[in-house]
Amino acid sequence: MPGTPPPGGSETVLEQAAVELCASPSCAICGTPLRGRRPDARCCSGRCRIVLCRRKRHEALLEGLVSCEQALRAAADAVAALRVVAEIGPHITDGFKVVRGGR
Ligand SMILES: [Zn+2]
Repeated sequence: MPGTPPPGGSETVLEQAAVELCASPSCAICGTPLRGRRPDARCCSGRCRIVLCRRKRHEALLEGLVSCEQALRAAADAVAALRVVAEIGPHITDGFKVVRGGR
């Protein structure tokens, strides 16, 4: 019968549609499909783009804070060690060798 799709034809079309749906990117913020947009587009609107930008900056801020906290702890440890040495007194620290950068 002409006009009738061959058996399995509709399945293939469905599969193709599913693949396209999975492959087509969606907004990184609200999940709206980004059909007809630039391939490198990550958001559906300027509003979502701003939210994504803020989120990225916030993540970068958190990462920076973690490394700052680690550096502060290391510095506090070093200062505490120096304090112990300094409080012993000048007669003791005379022959004391401070190893810089030692961990
Ligand atoms: Zn969006």
